[in-house]
Amino acid sequence: MEFLRGVGPQRAELLNKELNIFTYGDLLQHYPFRFDDRTRFYTISELDESLPAAQVRGRLRDWYTEGEGSKKRVVATFTDGTGSMSLVWFQGLTWLEKTLRREGEYVVYGKPQPFNGRYSIVHPELDNIHPDHELETGMVPVYNLTEKLRKRHLDSKAIGKIMRTLLEGAWPHLRETLPDELIQKYRLIGKREALWNIHLPQSPAWLRQAERRLKFEELFYNQLRLISNKLLQKEEYPGQVFANTQLLKHFYEHLLPFPLTGAQKRVLKEIRTDFVSGKQMNRLLQGDVGSGKTIVAFIAMLMAIDNGAQACLMAPTEILADQHYNGLKPFADAMGLNISILTGSTTTKRRKTLHPELQEGKTHIIVGTHALLEDAVQFKNLGLCIIDEQHRFGVAQRAKMWAKNPVIPPHILVMTATPIPRTLAMTLYGNLDISVIDELPAGRKPIKTVHKYDKHRSEIFGFMRQEIEKGRQVYVVYPLIEESEKLDYKDLMDGFESIQRAFPRPKYEIGILHGKMLPYEKDDEMQRFLRHETQILVATTVIEVGVNVPNASVMVIESAERFGLSQLHQLRGRVGRGSEQSYCVLMTGYKLSSDTKTRIETMVRTNNGFEIADVDLQLRGPGDLTGTQQSGLMDLMIADLAKDGPILTAARESAQKILDEDPHFVLPQNAPIRNHIDALGKKENNWSRIS
Ligand code: ADP
Ligand code: MG
Repeated sequence: MEFLRGVGPQRAELLNKELNIFTYGDLLQHYPFRFDDRTRFYTISELDESLPAAQVRGRLRDWYTEGEGSKKRVVATFTDGTGSMSLVWFQGLTWLEKTLRREGEYVVYGKPQPFNGRYSIVHPELDNIHPDHELETGMVPVYNLTEKLRKRHLDSKAIGKIMRTLLEGAWPHLRETLPDELIQKYRLIGKREALWNIHLPQSPAWLRQAERRLKFEELFYNQLRLISNKLLQKEEYPGQVFANTQLLKHFYEHLLPFPLTGAQKRVLKEIRTDFVSGKQMNRLLQGDVGSGKTIVAFIAMLMAIDNGAQACLMAPTEILADQHYNGLKPFADAMGLNISILTGSTTTKRRKTLHPELQEGKTHIIVGTHALLEDAVQFKNLGLCIIDEQHRFGVAQRAKMWAKNPVIPPHILVMTATPIPRTLAMTLYGNLDISVIDELPAGRKPIKTVHKYDKHRSEIFGFMRQEIEKGRQVYVVYPLIEESEKLDYKDLMDGFESIQRAFPRPKYEIGILHGKMLPYEKDDEMQRFLRHETQILVATTVIEVGVNVPNASVMVIESAERFGLSQLHQLRGRVGRGSEQSYCVLMTGYKLSSDTKTRIETMVRTNNGFEIADVDLQLRGPGDLTGTQQSGLMDLMIADLAKDGPILTAARESAQKILDEDPHFVLPQNAPIRNHIDALGKKENNWSRIS
């Protein structure tokens, strides 16, 4: 390819350093983040605050310098026969003073804002109307740039010009990267047209088509990679075969406490299929709070134990580990199986017996926290590792569990109650198989959620009294975040005291639970609540995950505006676990931002975790939802997981179908894929470096 006009060695170096652009390919993928619409002109009389930006043609009447220091600015009066407006600059004053021409004709572009009775544009783009000056027209691309680049005159206009030259030069070399079949099926435009129109759109309609095409391509290759990694992993790692089902049958026939829901049965079938496949299972089990994941976990454990293997269940907190242990112990006992628990507070003395019991295979099930990851914890034959509430564990920790069986890696089941929108799950966990429990046990009454302002507190206290009268229990939750920890503790304690005053002893007993308490103190409080010795539990979000007290039917969330949507949903999930009608009360102040209103309204409107997760994704964007551990997968240049769900679904289905039919892309129709993957592999050779 020819040397790129407009990019000398110095600019090339700047592009490398500032934007990580090394090749022509990188440059072509530096898509504009928006476009200025220069297709029409406005008169000054037509200007309106609601316009994001407007282009006006007129005459610069006069200008002067005002103000001192950082407030120093150039203010110009601009007219067009329909009115006049101001143009204001705070930067580049010396240059402006030199170049601005009184009575000169210009085209200005920027956001009009009313100021002192007329419109003004701050830092407008300014174009001379001059016979040999090219005016911006049409849809003008705006690129993400740095200050340094702008200083060296690599502004959006300059980049746009470079793109034009590059696209013209590269045109004959640009190859189609998608099979014709997909292009036809989804009516996509070709690669060349897409690249051209993403930078230099012929019209808004072409721009939309270009975006759709490039998003599809990006997500298609993203899914192709994830799915083929998963296939490779499957080929590579064998799994123990769990074919015996005696224990399972015994449990079903004699001990199962309730009929399983259809969704629970389906998920168990999926797990069983993995268990007899001879390959390692890596499965994510998504199920809304209260959907009954624990029993599914236990039944999966039975299948492992029935075949001479051991199972472990790892939870993110001691409270949860205890609860799982206490919940599973009666079942294990009834089945004649040995179950143990290992957490940070397990004594050295107990560990001395526990470690060998595990190693000799006497212990069938071990429940615990991160303590299970310690090197001292060794198994005779770990066959199944279940990780509850996955988002608190990193990939590295999962790998540690793999290593606990040096002969053959254990099957892995990751359970999460944080519903992840399908679109996101497909991308983030594309390399895990996904099971979903999308059905609540029969007879559950949907939780009623209401929004109340702080001044309604006495009404809420009255309601709490009523419920307690009926024998129910109540949670009152306060926010606690590190940045405002002191104040938050004060709020919590103040709230606790006012509740104590409103619910005096001996009629009422109130517990308190927060992160500053010692583990055994927390456990004590939790146990008192569980045994119904306290009617009200005042707490911070330590109760957020997984805690199960079916008799608790009211959840009051104080300062609800300070919680994220998924957190509110998790908290609400602590009630509605029994057969009684449950309630969630969201308390807030009067002043709420529009995002907060959306969060509260969503909570009031629906109990569906997946719907809530979708709204959360819209509000926060995907980065926030997933935390840092998966960030490597999020390097999408153009697709937006919050908005492009339908494109992602299509891309994933296409990728899956092609991998099923032609895993190595040898069929002639899949040549574009093979070529593109090859090209990506040796990017350096294929794309000349920018120099
Ligand atoms: P989660 O999915 O949030 O972990 P759990 O496993 O704690 O939910 O189950 C919530 C409650 O529902 C528990 O009390 C459990 O015993 C009960 N449960 C689970 N499955 C069923 C079912 N099929 N029918 C009735 N109750 C069930
Ligand atoms: Mg649970």
